[in-house]
This record gives sequence, structure tokens and C-alpha cells, in this order.
Amino acid sequence: MQPLVVANWKMNTGISDASVLATMVRNQLHEFNGVDVVLCPPFIWLQEVASILEISDPRIKLGAQNCYPEKDGPFTGEISVSMLQELCSYIIVGHSERREHFGENNEFINEKVHACLRYNLTPILCVGEKQKSENSQKKILKDLIECLEGVTKDELAKIVVAYEPVWSISTATQGDIASGEYANEVCELIKKEVGKETPVLYGGSVTSLTVDNYISQKSIDGVLIGGSSLNANNFVGICKKARGE
Ligand code: PEP
Repeated sequence: MQPLVVANWKMNTGISDASVLATMVRNQLHEFNGVDVVLCPPFIWLQEVASILEISDPRIKLGAQNCYPEKDGPFTGEISVSMLQELCSYIIVGHSERREHFGENNEFINEKVHACLRYNLTPILCVGEKQKSENSQKKILKDLIECLEGVTKDELAKIVVAYEPVWSISTATQGDIASGEYANEVCELIKKEVGKETPVLYGGSVTSLTVDNYISQKSIDGVLIGGSSLNANNFVGICKKARGE
């Protein structure tokens, strides 16, 4: 399968930064093959980025960073999957920052996974341990199974799983970073659970200097990029390395 590189801009960029970043990425990835690229800007810039990417062009897809599982109704401030369907192909669900700051649990994340599938959007389901311990892998599998409850075998092929060890997120300059071998071991475990049709990504402080360590691993099908996706040159560098340049 072709490597997948997903950019999670998180709660960053103003309108002009978002336009410049999307335009630079689009221009540098002109006629770019060999890797699938997804940009996930904040909700409020989705329309703007969509018009820059010209969403009919299949090379760069658009994703949302979150969704609410109900179709519509009295959910002030929320955005439903049916609203996102007009603009996006992917939705990140279960990100550790949503679990940590907004109290999201596996049951709620499972509802989001089903809502994405109902509207033919691909959920990028994030799982990963808070701290490395002997029980990490057991916990990751438990989370994965609970988040995928009720998902059929056929539907599993329409999901992307991102393994993101929380201790390795946004630590590029200061802390512990998962090695390619460690990330591969966990991604292999995930693959055994979900089947080989489901792409499994690694995410956590990946840069253009470290992406090779992950993308070269047998069970890692791509990368989810936070901080390094906010600089067009760094992000494009990651995309180029991911396709073996
Ligand atoms: C993330 O939060 O999904 C992520 C991968 O962030 P970073 O690349 O900044 O560690």
C-alpha cells in the first residue's frame, strides 16, 4: 500500500497562515505521486484550505481533527460528520489530547468511528499508551478493541489506525522518542488485530530527519505529523522521504 502522511495542524494558524501553508504545500507537491497526503486544519479553515487544494484533485485530501457523532440537534459548538462530509475525506478521532483535555472515552470514540463510517468518511483512530510500561501493549489493544466495537470486517478496511505513544508526542527537542523498532512492534500488534487491509500509522515527534526510521518498518504504513506539519518545507520534506526520495 502507498504510504500515507497526515498533517494535524491542531489549534494552530490564523486565516493567513493557513492559506499560506496550504498553498505552499500544494505548490511543492505539484504532480506528486507515490504518497497519499491528508491535511487536517482547524474546522474554521477547512473551507479555505479546500478551495486552495481544489478538492477535486485527488493528490491531497482534507481531514478534520474531530467530529460529533450525532447528525444534528442541540449540541452547541459541535460539528457533525454529516456537515464535514461536504468537505473532508478523513476525520481524526480519539486523539490523546481529546482524551486528556475533553474527557473522551472509548465508548464515545466508538460512536464517532461509527458516525464516520455511516457517512463514508475514513476515521483515523488514534491509540497509544500514556506511559511506557509492561502493560502498555495490553492497554493499547484494549482501547483499540473498545473503540472498534461493532465495526465489521469489511468496515475495518475503511479505517486508518494511528499508533501514537503519548510520551512521544511533541517531544522532538526535549524528551523520549519511540524508536522505529518499538513503534513497529506495536504497529505489528495492531495489524494483527485489525487485519492487513487497514493502514497503521505511527505518530509522535516525527520530523524530516526521523521519518525514515518509521517509514522503513514493515508494519508502519505512514505517519501522523503534528508540530512538523506547520512548516511547509519540513512537511514536504517528510512527504518526499515517505515516498523514498
Ligand atoms: C500528534 O499530536 O498527533 C502528533 C503526532 O504531534 P507531534 O508530531 O507534534 O508529536
